[in-house]
Amino acid sequence: MKNMVNLNFDELQVQWYNIIPDLPEPLPQPMDPKEGPSRLQNLPNLMIGECLNQEFSNKTWIDIPGGILDLYSRAGRPRPLFRATSLEKKLDTPARLYYKSEFFSPTGSHKVNTALAQCWYAKQQGFERVTTETGAGQWGTALSYAAAITGLKCTVFWVRSVYNWKKDRLSFMKLLGADVFASPSPMTEFGRSLYEKNPEHVGSLGIAISEGMEDSQKDPKATYCLGSVLNHVLMHQTIIGLETKKQFEIFDDYPDIVISCLGGGSNFGGFALPFMGDVLKKGKKIKFIAAQSQAAPNLQGNYEYDFADYAEITPMLKMYTLGHKVDMEPIKGDGLRYHGSSPIISLLRHKGLIDTVAYPIDEKYVFEKAKIFMEAEGWLPAPESAYSVCCAIDEAIKCRESGEKKVIAFNISGHGFLDIYGYRTILGIE
Ligand SMILES: *Cc1c(COP(=O)(O)O)cnc(C)c1O
Repeated sequence: MKNMVNLNFDELQVQWYNIIPDLPEPLPQPMDPKEGPSRLQNLPNLMIGECLNQEFSNKTWIDIPGGILDLYSRAGRPRPLFRATSLEKKLDTPARLYYKSEFFSPTGSHKVNTALAQCWYAKQQGFERVTTETGAGQWGTALSYAAAITGLKCTVFWVRSVYNWKKDRLSFMKLLGADVFASPSPMTEFGRSLYEKNPEHVGSLGIAISEGMEDSQKDPKATYCLGSVLNHVLMHQTIIGLETKKQFEIFDDYPDIVISCLGGGSNFGGFALPFMGDVLKKGKKIKFIAAQSQAAPNLQGNYEYDFADYAEITPMLKMYTLGHKVDMEPIKGDGLRYHGSSPIISLLRHKGLIDTVAYPIDEKYVFEKAKIFMEAEGWLPAPESAYSVCCAIDEAIKCRESGEKKVIAFNISGHGFLDIYGYRTILGIE
């Protein structure tokens, strides 16, 4: 039996999939709030031109420029799809389990897929520097990497509560040449307003986004990059699911259940949307499950217009949200801790096409399942990806109980080599 399928470089996907024209109803557009300056009119000053075009594109397929394909190959694409035969045995399930290996990444996550595209477009447009925020640190590392290999400078505002303890990831970003600041920082006006009141302010993703945007706006040579939520980011990530579909053809199989973890929606969207296209256009039946934490179960929030950032610099997006000023309990799978969910995913959820599960905040339940996976398959998932693994195992156990031979596909969005501390603390191992 085949355990793994990979593609050759010449089979690499040459187009991204834009699901917008295939959605069951038009995607609600971003909106300005009733008061204050227009955020929408400010977008061209804030974003990379080509990314802004892609954000509102109605073309189903968008060509991936040769320069980006070259960068993808340098980052190790295509990436294998594994059949988890050993895990199936261990769980004694009749289900067939497959996992996509986004952990084969130079920085440890799927986020390089959009970071490389954004930096390549930024360079084309003549920018010299990119700015951003990061929460768990994976996005900051991915952008630092992409900026380094495309010859751009990179500034990262990193939520202080995480910055303070993830020393290895901080060094990683600095090795890649990035400037990294704990946020709120004294470097921006908005950051300063909070920093001066409390230099130990723990910060939040929303605050860090506001700092990243302010910094780029004050420098005409800089542009701002966002690692999740937006339509073009999810589109860049569809390379994951498009590869997976080709790999399923080689396995001569097709999923009944498609699972991934969801923070803002980029890895879930990247993995699931190409399959969602089959559901919308070809009448395929697939159950999609987004695995979340009870610390940030944004898909169980309200479907309404909300800001994407704390300081209300962004336009308002129609999305499932917990409210842009909500406090969320820290967890080791920090990348899942965001108040809102991508508008595309939100619309599909609203239409009843996406299910969700939220796991307990103490993370024991989730990490114990990740350990079962690790003992069977040998790969260490990122703490966020552990939610995807956990959900897949739960579904496989249901199949054991019902005797159903379902095909379960799950995405492993990153590796956990820099997060062993998190596992150690939660599982109480040495
Ligand atoms: C950032 C991150 C996530 C969550 O973000 P999404 O945009 O929802 O994908 C999940 N897994 C890993 C490894 C991440 O770095």
